[in-house]
Amino acid sequence: MAQTPILRRTSDDSQIAQTTASQSAKRMLVDAQGRVVFMGNEIQNLLGLKSVGADTDLMDVVEFTDRDSVISDRGQALFGGGNTDFVSMFTSGSHEITLTNGKTVTLDFDIIQTQNAEFIVGVMNDAEERSSNVPSEDIQGWISQTLPVNEDVNDTEDEHEDLGEFTQRDISNFMEMSEEIMIKCSKNGSLRNFNKKCLSTLGFEESDLVAMEFMDIIAPEDKSTVRPIVMQIINGEAEKHQIVHFEARMLCENGERRWIHWQQRKFGHALYFVGQDLTQIKYQQLKLKRQQEQLSKAQSIGRMGHWTWALGREEIEWSDELYRIFGVDQDNFLPTIDSIGKLVVRRDLGRTMQIFQRAMMSKCNFETDFRIKTENGKEKHLRCEGRCQTDEDGDVTAIFGIMRDITEQFEHETELHRAKEAAENAYAAKSQFLANMSHELRTPLNAIIGFSEMIQRQLLGPIGTEQYLDYINGIRESGEHLLDLITDILDMSKIESGKYELDLEKFEFNKPLDVAIHMMEGRALDQNIKINLNLSESLKERKIVADRRAIMQIMLNLLSNAVKFSGENGIIEVCCEERDNGIFIKVADNGIGIPPNKLQTILKPFEQVSNQYSRGHEGSGLGLAITKELVELHGGHLHLESELNVGTTVHIRLPFEVIQRPKDQTRH
Ligand code: ADP
Repeated sequence: MAQTPILRRTSDDSQIAQTTASQSAKRMLVDAQGRVVFMGNEIQNLLGLKSVGADTDLMDVVEFTDRDSVISDRGQALFGGGNTDFVSMFTSGSHEITLTNGKTVTLDFDIIQTQNAEFIVGVMNDAEERSSNVPSEDIQGWISQTLPVNEDVNDTEDEHEDLGEFTQRDISNFMEMSEEIMIKCSKNGSLRNFNKKCLSTLGFEESDLVAMEFMDIIAPEDKSTVRPIVMQIINGEAEKHQIVHFEARMLCENGERRWIHWQQRKFGHALYFVGQDLTQIKYQQLKLKRQQEQLSKAQSIGRMGHWTWALGREEIEWSDELYRIFGVDQDNFLPTIDSIGKLVVRRDLGRTMQIFQRAMMSKCNFETDFRIKTENGKEKHLRCEGRCQTDEDGDVTAIFGIMRDITEQFEHETELHRAKEAAENAYAAKSQFLANMSHELRTPLNAIIGFSEMIQRQLLGPIGTEQYLDYINGIRESGEHLLDLITDILDMSKIESGKYELDLEKFEFNKPLDVAIHMMEGRALDQNIKINLNLSESLKERKIVADRRAIMQIMLNLLSNAVKFSGENGIIEVCCEERDNGIFIKVADNGIGIPPNKLQTILKPFEQVSNQYSRGHEGSGLGLAITKELVELHGGHLHLESELNVGTTVHIRLPFEVIQRPKDQTRH
């Protein structure tokens, strides 16, 4: 069998002149970086090497029985010889080598200094002479003859590049560049060599690692799973050349864990590990998983699921929650247009399909509600919202969206709608009843008031007993009070049911104002209350378009409240001025005022301040509410200001010409 020489030399190279071929066959020459420059045929045979590639590392082809005594710790920690001053870590002398058949052989190693460099010369123990016994000029001559003709490194590398081979230097460079962790272990798992990436990933110093075993850098929680895998390789149980893959966490120097995908293989007496750092990917996967779980939980809380239908595909992708909403089993139900269609209530199917088709054609978003049948025969209401996904040409490639179970919301809304309708009907019935009743009461009341007035005036003859005159006066006043109340109720009912119609006419604003003040003056005088009117010049004889009776009612209500809630000697200011194409009216008193907590509600019907201040004042609680409504019916605005024990001011703004709201905007 042909012996493949290392480098470009063979043991029978004619250049080895002084040394016999048989001597050379028993020698090997190793350079300062630990690369075998030459290996004699006999040594190659002994080591069972068929070929030794160029730049082969001594430590790769020779298995020293006691490796630790051959090279120092630092030397053991580093791969190859390319970057290291191997010779300085090498111990010369006789070293036993374990052969592949288990036998041992001893070789003598000497370090020889030549003019340019140091070399290690290895000689088989049975050689006639040890290199150290050979005169140094002879061995140096052998070295110079054995060295390649042109030892220029670049030339050598170029030639290898030409041949398309990787040199040991190339491999070292690759290893240093690699993003993969590379570890070489002895056959029993002790860390021998490792690359830069290994150090940077783990954070250990070289010196720490050489004292460790592979299992030491595996995180405790993964040791039990990793040990059998590694042992399988160590014990040779794995198939020859089989690369075993596994994932495990590495324990870094700072206690951190890093997820590594390992590839492990045994070559000769060494175990090789190549690891890919998956920590970032694992972290992302974990994050994604957590987010998916959260999304799923959120969807479950919101009773909502998402779906995607890629056009051309039969299956529609559903999130877990959709299976729950539709009440189908994830393992036994394949969501397709047909299968989903079978669950949709028949009457909703056609319309829903149409909406989907239209969305696809017009590429627009859509939202629709439909019902599905559930196992217990009840219907569920679903809301489906969808979006179109388009490619760069604008063609729809998929539609996707969400579906939400809105059954509860639907039932709630229906209930609310029903309750609102019922309340509105009841309110309308009440208003109708009040309107009817007030109307019916007015007729007899008018009779009571009319006849009592006649008796009071004794139109048909004198009353015998004086006392009766007092009684009849009481009957008349009570009747008038009742009539006021009923008129108020009737007005309020009409306003609330939208049936109050303004009787519009053109008149001078100051006329009803004067009448109202005049009518209240009598009552005011009883309590020595003064009413001051301040009417701006421009408003005198200013004509407005409004409901005269309503304007009168507004002024009477405000003035009667001002008189009612002012104490003895009170002063009431009525100011009217023109502003913004309308009239600003201010009615201010210095009476008992309204507590702040009542100001918000006092404008609502039947609201009264019931306390020691207002106690004893008669009234229905409708005056202010009616006043506000009448002002607003005229397109105006009412605002109330009050301070307890200081007084109350009512501000009103009325347009010169009433702006009537269309009928349907009035209150229902
Ligand atoms: P009524 O006067 O018939 O009770 P209103 O709607 O006119 O009904 O007034 C409601 C309540 O607002 C009154 O009962 C009173 O408590 C309070 N109020 C109205 N005007 C005044 C005012 N000028 N000063 C103090 N309190 C007032």
